[in-house]
Amino acid sequence: MKYLSTRGHADRKQFCDILLEGLAPDGGLYLPETYPKITAAALTKLRKAYHEQGYAELAFQILSLYIDDIPAADLKAICAKTYTAEVFGTGEIVPLRHLEDGLWLEALSNGPTLAFKDMAMQLLGNLFEYELGRRGEQLNILGATSGDTGSAAEYAMRGKEGVRVFMTSPHGRMSAFQQAQMFSLQDENIHNIAIEGVFDDCQDIVKAVSNDHAFKAKYKIGTVNSINWARLLAQVVYYFAGYIQATETNNQKVSFTVPSGNFGNICAGHVARMMGLPIAKLVVATNENDVLDEFFRTGVYRVRGSADTHETSSPSMDISKASNFERFIFDLLGRNGQRTKALFSAALQTYGRFDLSADPLFADAAKKYGFESGKSTHADRLATIKDTFERHGVTIDTHTADGVKVAREHHSDAKVPMIVLETALPIKFAETIIEALGHAPERPAKFAGIEDLPKRVHVMPADVEQVKAYIERHCAPAAQG
Ligand SMILES: *Cc1c(COP(=O)(O)O)cnc(C)c1O
Repeated sequence: MKYLSTRGHADRKQFCDILLEGLAPDGGLYLPETYPKITAAALTKLRKAYHEQGYAELAFQILSLYIDDIPAADLKAICAKTYTAEVFGTGEIVPLRHLEDGLWLEALSNGPTLAFKDMAMQLLGNLFEYELGRRGEQLNILGATSGDTGSAAEYAMRGKEGVRVFMTSPHGRMSAFQQAQMFSLQDENIHNIAIEGVFDDCQDIVKAVSNDHAFKAKYKIGTVNSINWARLLAQVVYYFAGYIQATETNNQKVSFTVPSGNFGNICAGHVARMMGLPIAKLVVATNENDVLDEFFRTGVYRVRGSADTHETSSPSMDISKASNFERFIFDLLGRNGQRTKALFSAALQTYGRFDLSADPLFADAAKKYGFESGKSTHADRLATIKDTFERHGVTIDTHTADGVKVAREHHSDAKVPMIVLETALPIKFAETIIEALGHAPERPAKFAGIEDLPKRVHVMPADVEQVKAYIERHCAPAAQG
């Protein structure tokens, strides 16, 4: 399997090259040259693998279709080490829970940081350690976080050979629980840098460091953001696991509703559907930051400025543009790299928007690819959390509430189960749960009292040079030559 760029670059690469690389050289995103097709017989085999051998085996079999530059036995061992009941809380890893008529919740948030990003990041940590070890290389991951991504990355990379993490976050702006999760890590290779500023300042610092090519090469700076193909691929597996749990035969279809921000999670659903998994609809659920809902309703993709980007009570979906969206548009345009490039580099740079409403291909987004969309507001979240608790005794987090609200509006066929992806546990967003229910959500025992643990964090002004100096002090430069 070779990988290509969505912007038409001539290079074709192998999995382990793009694993460590991030963006393609022309600024595009990597995708496989073709999507491997799953026949009914192959799906039956995967069903059996999940039921008899578990999630890790299912992951191994799906990943094997996309990765041919890691020996099978090694890849199998990496999957087995990643997807354990110990790390993810249950033997099923992603248990499916019935909520109400035809509506199900797939739990993706029982990993170490209680958000779905662990599903992919835990695998990424093990893949990085494996590949860096094989090459005798080091990697210094520099990132910016307002919560979920940073903690998932730190918990995935802690104690890993050859990897260091430098994670910037806006000083004093994350929830107490999120700060405690990140700052209580005492591992030598994890560095928390609290920036006196807002999240955008953190992102600007990361960009400035990455644009200093000499520094980036000398200190082997890399990222783990959601455009990484390996993260997306890891997510494809739980669409299969959700389908297998909700059905008995391959003649049945299911739909998914996905709380969405950067379009990473649901893009994995698109890949699963392209492989032939019997998915009827893929429903994009957004909060007030409705860039994606607007596109699927109107055909206009319009990036928001920072004044137009709302701080909401489902903060992990607060985006101004959806960084993985280019992958779907590339497929929608018949994999036309030149056209994708014209939209994402020229049109977005110049006008901040593009408009496909008059293009017949836009109709395919729903007809051929199954996409629908909806949005939710703070009041909707409160009402959905309250209603779900009162009628079913189930407490859902704010992001999952956006999903449940939109799923109810799009669940049109009683014969097709609608699976809502649960993307975080409510304890991470306790304030809003208290606002909705009048009491705090349950706290898993292993998180008792984490706010009182000693914290390991460096507070710094929003100054690129100081961040660079900190990185220099804490990592030996990569070996010359
Ligand atoms: C990251 C995140 C999302 C959004 O996922 P995307 O892949 O960016 O669409 C939704 N919910 C939670 C809890 C998250 O952490």
